[in-house]
Amino acid sequence: MTSQLPVNQLASLSLAQLEQTQDFIRRHIGPNEAQTQTMLNDMGVESVNALIDEIVPQNIRLAALPAIGDSKTEVQALADLKAVASLNKINTSYIGLGYYGTLTPNVITRNVLENPGWYTAYTPYQPEIAQGRLESLLNYQQMCIDLTGLPLASASLLDEGTAAAEAMALAKRVSKNKKSNLFFISDDVYPQTIDVVKQRADMFDFDIIVAPAAEATEHDIFGALIQYPGASGEVTDISELIANIQANKGIVAVAADIMSLVLLKAPGELGADAVIGSSQRFGVPMGYGGPHAAFFTTDKYKRSLPGRIIGVSKDTRGNSALRMAMQTREQHIRREKANSNICTAQVLLANMAAFYAVYHGPKGLKTIANRIHRFADILCLGTASKGLVAVHANYFDTLTFNVDAAQKEAVVARALAASANFRTDVDGQISISLDETTTRENIAALFDILLGEGHGLDVAELDQQIVASSHSSIQRSLVRESEILTHPVFNSYHSETEMLRYIKRLENKDLALNHSMISLGSCTMKLNATAQMIPVSWPEFANMHPFAPMDQAQGYKKMIDELADWLVELTGYDKMSMQPNSGAQGEYAGLISIVKYHESRGDSHRNICLIPASAHGTNPASANMVGMKVVVVACDKQGNVDMNDLKTKAEELADNLACIMITYPSTHGVYETTIAEICEIIHAHGGQVYLDGANMNAQVGLTSPGHIGADVSHLNLHKTFAIPHGGGGPGMGPIGVKAHLAPFLPDHAIINVSEETKGNGAVSAAPFGSAGILCISYLYVAMLGKKGVTEASKFAITNANYVATKLSAHYPLLYTGNNGRVAHECIIDLRPLKATSGITEVDIAKRLIDYGFHAPTMSFPVAGTFMIEPTESESKVEPDRFVEAMTSIRNEVRKVESGEWELNNNPLQNAPHTLADITAVWDRGYTVQEAVFPIAGVAKNKFWPTVNRIDDVYGDRNLICSCPPIDSYID
Ligand SMILES: *Cc1c(COP(=O)(O)O)cnc(C)c1O
Repeated sequence: MTSQLPVNQLASLSLAQLEQTQDFIRRHIGPNEAQTQTMLNDMGVESVNALIDEIVPQNIRLAALPAIGDSKTEVQALADLKAVASLNKINTSYIGLGYYGTLTPNVITRNVLENPGWYTAYTPYQPEIAQGRLESLLNYQQMCIDLTGLPLASASLLDEGTAAAEAMALAKRVSKNKKSNLFFISDDVYPQTIDVVKQRADMFDFDIIVAPAAEATEHDIFGALIQYPGASGEVTDISELIANIQANKGIVAVAADIMSLVLLKAPGELGADAVIGSSQRFGVPMGYGGPHAAFFTTDKYKRSLPGRIIGVSKDTRGNSALRMAMQTREQHIRREKANSNICTAQVLLANMAAFYAVYHGPKGLKTIANRIHRFADILCLGTASKGLVAVHANYFDTLTFNVDAAQKEAVVARALAASANFRTDVDGQISISLDETTTRENIAALFDILLGEGHGLDVAELDQQIVASSHSSIQRSLVRESEILTHPVFNSYHSETEMLRYIKRLENKDLALNHSMISLGSCTMKLNATAQMIPVSWPEFANMHPFAPMDQAQGYKKMIDELADWLVELTGYDKMSMQPNSGAQGEYAGLISIVKYHESRGDSHRNICLIPASAHGTNPASANMVGMKVVVVACDKQGNVDMNDLKTKAEELADNLACIMITYPSTHGVYETTIAEICEIIHAHGGQVYLDGANMNAQVGLTSPGHIGADVSHLNLHKTFAIPHGGGGPGMGPIGVKAHLAPFLPDHAIINVSEETKGNGAVSAAPFGSAGILCISYLYVAMLGKKGVTEASKFAITNANYVATKLSAHYPLLYTGNNGRVAHECIIDLRPLKATSGITEVDIAKRLIDYGFHAPTMSFPVAGTFMIEPTESESKVEPDRFVEAMTSIRNEVRKVESGEWELNNNPLQNAPHTLADITAVWDRGYTVQEAVFPIAGVAKNKFWPTVNRIDDVYGDRNLICSCPPIDSYID
């Protein structure tokens, strides 16, 4: 290490050696040389490479480092990416179709979007240390409830297209019209939504009809999807239509524009059964398609609602406390019976949208929506006065004009010359959508574009005419009369100072990576480097509409292509699709490619999906979504796939075998040596291999799914490739495939993704998913280079084995592989403790909070266990602290075992302890010191949970998913 040399020796170093101080690799990888040596000594192994050789099976190792180039410094990588970004040409976007310009309040940009306290947290599985983001998500639900007029909301879905597909699935589950297999889509629904819903219907074997909304009652349907306002901008009163569809036992889902709902009568008030849409234009940049949070509300179908619901419960002191409600609906438990496969959602963006509503409040939002609408009125009046009359008399923010081909060409040319983009995908029409960023100057420019110069129109004059006339372009029957956002939270924080402190107050309640290690197994909570986050807010990336003409998006194209090339190299596949915006969506997309591949060979009867018992719950849930039948393969005592069972089943089911879904290294935390053989067996019986890439952090540079013999995988870019978890999203789940599956990758209704996939359906609303965060993974690879990404895998394995070695002195390791080692994560078995002491894994998880830690993954993949994944980014210091805490907890359990501490009155079962606990009358069988400062190190960085143990059962019995009235906070 250079820093250990005296100055006179530094002089003898070469420039290349001196330049190493700028090397990002050593910033990303936690342990330094001395720490590594100590860890190796403790593990009894010579070197990191020797350890890796002991663990990763030789028959799957790569011969050389991946060809992805050398590492770049942060400075260089950012400068190079800036040059790429500048190839994007950001026009003023009037395209609309669910993506709008928006003004993110700077207080939200800096303190939420760009703040690791918010973006590095995980899904709130430990709600006692997640009350901040849970409160914000509850605000989000309340906002959705108020605006849509339906009483039950989930806490975010992936995008509007998939939310619409989920609405169709819900309609099928709950419709009383059981004999119908037909779903109706209004032809005025966004084209990308139709595309996503059609694909989903195809997989579910539903029939679809797309026609003018009024025709919905002419068909025997189980449900219908209507857009409000329509894609063409038209606002129609759909209440009668809804009632008529419902009279025929059809379920009606309305896709609504959130900003329009501020002024329009809520779809719930018009009778809708479900309302979905995107909350993007509430302060979340377009980002070339995402990430954005979609919303989903219903009136009564709480057991059928897809995604997570945040609910109100109480802690043991009776304080109001929040947590995810009805966790039984999650895939982990329901597996192929789950409502959906959604795991990672869009929490960070839901929080941003909620804060936007909190900051502006009902008055502010009404002003914003009215201003947008006024501009539309001015544009409409002005053009009409010159003979260019908009198609619809009733609209909110979007005007459609009929134009002949020559007119269209001229207008579009003038628009492009003025750096403006219109919606042009409908023959004979152009549409213009206005938004919060629209200015008077923009409207004047639009007159020039539409009418040619010399029109003589004046924006202020037109405005006066509108104010003077009593004409409304929203029909009286559809003007909103119900109040919105009356809860105090939306009426309290309108100055920046108040807002800043509200955001900070919530942040303080949450434990994120900027406080301590979060060793959630399978989740890969590694460093999300600041440099990687910076380009997310560059305007070149943030302000691009996903349907902007490709020649304007050359920066995005270059970045996406280059990242895809690197991922091809790192996965050993031939082709990537960047469309799926979560791991589970990747599973869905990958399975579709398998279904279509079999179909193309006349093998459409192949519908069996083998899944090992240890699989993540999204695997069976995804298989179900493509109409496959799940058959479980047993695992043996060592956690490996039971090869005999696999062979028997593959053979027995060979005629109908579609694929296997297998995770590697397995979720049991071991490298199965038989993986290549498993691939061969499946292939020999005509099946395909879906390798779940969630554990790529143990593969990159060492082996790869393609090299092993798999056919398709998703990558969780929010795990291995450094996109932060955002408190439960966003993420990206691109898939890699071998060449034979490439023709079956997703395409897009508006943007042709590749010639080879032309006409294929879509899995996401945007052509490249949540493209706006791809720069994070891009910089991750660029700054680590081929050496760094490989070192990252090696150190992920080293750290996991170090923790396993240390913990094994106190807790049994459930599974080990070659040489008694584990992969990049390890499972400790807590069930024996329950038998001897009555202390459960939940008690230990909550007790870790008192020590300042977030619990590891609990009871997955095996009940009563912890799965621990430290990642390469932790130095030895943090794992040592964790081991010390776990060791101390083991000793605490001994006190319960011995009877020194009573069962039901000890720090473990009473954990976590709050300030309220220790300042109340203390009558417990242990000291305050033992409760909150159990070991010396804790005081240095004490984390105080704001509520103690939360009552889940109470919350589920009394489901409340909106903000409780203010008086309920008082007692
Ligand atoms: C995280 C994970 C998934 C799901 O990925 P999401 O991005 O959360 O949808 C699937 N399989 C495994 C093994 C995982 O760890």
